[in-house]
Amino acid sequence: TEEKSLHFIEQIIEESLTNGFPKDKLRFRFPPEPNGYLHIGHAKSICLNFGLGLKYNAPVNLRFDDTNPAKEEQEYVDAIKEDLRWLGFKWNEELYSSDYFQQLYDWAVAMIKNSKAYVDSQSSEDIAIQKGSPTQPGVDGPYRNRSVEENLKLFDAMKNGDYPEGSHVLRAKIDMKSTNMLMRDPLMYRILHRHHHRTGNDWNIYPMYDYAHGESDYVEQISHSICTLEFVMHRELYNWFLDQIYDHDKVRPHQYEFARLNLNYTVMSKRKLLQLVQENIVNGWDDPRMPTISGLRRRGYTAASIRKFCDIIGVAKRENVIDYSLLEFCLREDLNKTAPRVMAVLDPVKLIITNYPEDTEEWLEAENNQEDFSAGFRKVPFSKELYIEREDFLEEAPSKFFRLSIGREVRLKNAYIIKGESVVKDAAGNISEIHVTYDVDSKSGSGSDASQRKVAGTLHWVCVQHALEVEVRLYDRLFSDEAPDSHKEKSFLDFVNPDSLEIIKGFVEPSLANVQAGEKFQFQRLGYFNVDFDSSSEKIVFNKTVGLKDAWEE
Ligand code: ATP
Ligand code: MG
Ligand code: MG
Repeated sequence: TEEKSLHFIEQIIEESLTNGFPKDKLRFRFPPEPNGYLHIGHAKSICLNFGLGLKYNAPVNLRFDDTNPAKEEQEYVDAIKEDLRWLGFKWNEELYSSDYFQQLYDWAVAMIKNSKAYVDSQSSEDIAIQKGSPTQPGVDGPYRNRSVEENLKLFDAMKNGDYPEGSHVLRAKIDMKSTNMLMRDPLMYRILHRHHHRTGNDWNIYPMYDYAHGESDYVEQISHSICTLEFVMHRELYNWFLDQIYDHDKVRPHQYEFARLNLNYTVMSKRKLLQLVQENIVNGWDDPRMPTISGLRRRGYTAASIRKFCDIIGVAKRENVIDYSLLEFCLREDLNKTAPRVMAVLDPVKLIITNYPEDTEEWLEAENNQEDFSAGFRKVPFSKELYIEREDFLEEAPSKFFRLSIGREVRLKNAYIIKGESVVKDAAGNISEIHVTYDVDSKSGSGSDASQRKVAGTLHWVCVQHALEVEVRLYDRLFSDEAPDSHKEKSFLDFVNPDSLEIIKGFVEPSLANVQAGEKFQFQRLGYFNVDFDSSSEKIVFNKTVGLKDAWEE
């Protein structure tokens, strides 16, 4: 196996180990906010943090960053845990920022006592105006120099629910003239009379992300707190908050930033994904068109293919956009090795072998996966009437058409060589039957001369009498634009592809009678298909996962 060079965060860790940081103090976390389902972007962060945990044999906490009760729900907590498990990662502890609400409150009180925080009673508009702009320093507001006593009294009353939302906030007292806008007395707490999914109605004030995140890292003694590049400017504030509480005997967390995953032809913000769900543009967070982990899983993605994808894209400090086709490439590579081959016909036309005996069937041997000999063989039924794909026949075909037409020969996969003879058409002029003759000596695997005969093409088929009718859901990209959320004048919703889902009936070979949700197959010559969890013994439902070839280049 080839040695991979270290990515920049591994290099930072190696350096700190060299400089004496104890290896057993390495500790990481993955900190989702439970305000939506995980998406493929989160997978990058998961693979990074849990990958470091595995590499350094260090704990990785699952920390729910649940400081905004307005948007958070237990459903999301459960979904996040399920997705993490499915991706194949084990967290050390399951923790919640909300578990630290009392500690965070106590630290805030201490900061007030040290004149490092104050209650501001202005409107959010006035606070925003005083903040200035990147080119203009901010100005101190009228409440900035309130006495410690008054601040303590007000903050306590805020906590007790004595004031309406928006009437007061707690702000850190830093520097209204800082060149970093985030350092201009940032908010630490706001009043929210909301029910929290874990703390219920205990709190009427909730900490802001910037305050809660670093302090939570400190509580958990996270050594390397890894986030995406949007937080570069927040690092100064992260460090300032830590300065207020840091005890020199403890590990001091450090924040490091890497480039988030951007993928074309999709959106990844949870807010936008929620909009797709709420406006019924998709059928839930796990709709197979969604870039969520649960959507990809339902579509037929394997956890291994997602981990492989994260491995290939790597970890760096520069933003870029990854082609969706790379994700599909990783999937195809995996499924090619693992998915059993079967025959299915999705746009059927009847084929009648005129010289094949009536009321006869044979069960032919078919290989399950030519890439994996251990996958073995199965039997498929064959008789006089079959279905083939409509597009595999042309009455009059150009010379480069390597399929069936009148007077030409093809092989039926695992079966015989047939020759096109004539067609029957319905009143509208559409072909309703194709009549062919077969070469009785040409049976695949029989060893006869005719079985070795080369013909222009091989077609898949199913036997009419034994075929199972199934529902097949065909998906196209959800957005018709490469960067749907990058347009100034238009919403990403303006680029939703109206034809992203097509539901058809198809026929599959009878070996699929007892498939279970989540089973994956290659329908030969068509692509990879996953049994949907809407599937039952009465109605089998397949999702088309991905075609055999890259269709994005077209
Ligand atoms: P979104 O912006 O999509 O709503 P978020 O960043 O608000 O996502 P969190 O639940 O806060 O979502 O994210 C949990 C972790 O996943 C964070 O450390 C965040 O940096 C990381 N993360 C989120 N999106 C991506 C992405 N596209 N690429 C890499 N990491 C990501
Ligand atoms: Mg967030
Ligand atoms: Mg975000």
